Amino acid sequence: MSPSSPLWRPFTQHAVEPAPPKIVRAEGAWLETATGEKILDAISSWWVTTHGHRHPAIMAAIAEAGENLDQIIFAGLTHEPAERLARELVALAPAGLKHVFLSDSGSTAVEVALKMALGVFANRGETRTRIAVLEGGYHGDTIGTMSVGERGVFNAPYEPLLFEVERLPFPAPGREQATIDALDAAGRRGDLAAVVVEPLVLGAGGMRMYGPATLAELKRATERAGALFIADEVMTGWGRTGTLFACEQAGVAPDILCTSKGLTGGAVPLAATLATAEIFDAHYSTDRAKTFFHSSSFTANPIACAAALANIGVWRDEPVAERVAALASAQRARIGRFDGDARFANARVRGTIAAVDIVTPDAGYLAEIGPKLRAFFLGQGLLVRPLGDVVYLMPPYCVTEDELDRLYDAILEAPDALG
Ligand code: PLP
Repeated sequence: MSPSSPLWRPFTQHAVEPAPPKIVRAEGAWLETATGEKILDAISSWWVTTHGHRHPAIMAAIAEAGENLDQIIFAGLTHEPAERLARELVALAPAGLKHVFLSDSGSTAVEVALKMALGVFANRGETRTRIAVLEGGYHGDTIGTMSVGERGVFNAPYEPLLFEVERLPFPAPGREQATIDALDAAGRRGDLAAVVVEPLVLGAGGMRMYGPATLAELKRATERAGALFIADEVMTGWGRTGTLFACEQAGVAPDILCTSKGLTGGAVPLAATLATAEIFDAHYSTDRAKTFFHSSSFTANPIACAAALANIGVWRDEPVAERVAALASAQRARIGRFDGDARFANARVRGTIAAVDIVTPDAGYLAEIGPKLRAFFLGQGLLVRPLGDVVYLMPPYCVTEDELDRLYDAILEAPDALG
């Protein structure tokens, strides 16, 4: 039976999923439906609204930017919101990142990073084209980002479009050396162009976590391989793992860093790919064939840039780092509630992100329990979107301790409530 709405929704099986609630208002950690119900947004609307919905300073900046500017072609023209944003991002980012390429989604930020990396070696006349990735990663749903992401149900039909990459085993606790050894072995073949990782937390791949020491080792092994290190901080950036960027915890300076989601405080789409001078310089030439050939119509949208500047202003003017630390410690204080409970496994926290696996016969993204859990939480006025059997919380930094308690209570109730 076809649905009554012409909308074709993302990651939605229309044949089995109920019609979604219609949201008419959003504020802070809360959403309000057309029928007046309140929903606690425990996943920051797909991990974007770091400060909560409709932060006043960000909404005001968007309105103000629209008084003077709308979209301006960014090849051949420039504008102050983008110029300032680039300077501010370079000042905030890990050392060595000196150039900022603006785009409009996390996937695009990663596609841009892949093209930059291959462009470096092509422009230098070196034959390095292979990419290494961590097993279980997710970098987006475009062709390039699916190629570097985990293969599975998300992308099986598109397999003929995807390119092959070197897959490194996930550095699970006690298995880190196997990952580094695999990277060293790949490096010795001499054709590695780049290593792409989600630093510290693999998000859509199941909130799998590894430590800063391993991240630092991965960077060192990438250097030994003569390859470029691409940090996909699309999810981990803007405080999610406890620091502004996750790489900071490992003292890692990536060659390329991708950011989106929290870049505008989640209010409007924008992404940035930051690169070192070495990468920019490899494209800097009187030979026009060495140009970085990438663009999209909405590159550097001034209104989005103004929102990103306002987000940076919020980080500067409000105690955001303290809010992040408080949320991280509130998550750590509660995660022990799953200990010794046979219905749960692998309870884990990294910064503001908490996750736990529900013990079910069929683990993985298509676990039967996934949609049931989602419906159970929604029935309680909670927006929690498990990744199959993995339940996680990635709330906005304005969430209160009482709201967190409600979320943990609901997770603890869920397995029995579902029978
Ligand atoms: N990279 C990571 C680590 C992500 O978590 C995501 C989205 O969840 C993406 C890339 C893709 O971002 P977008 O959905 O904005 O294209």
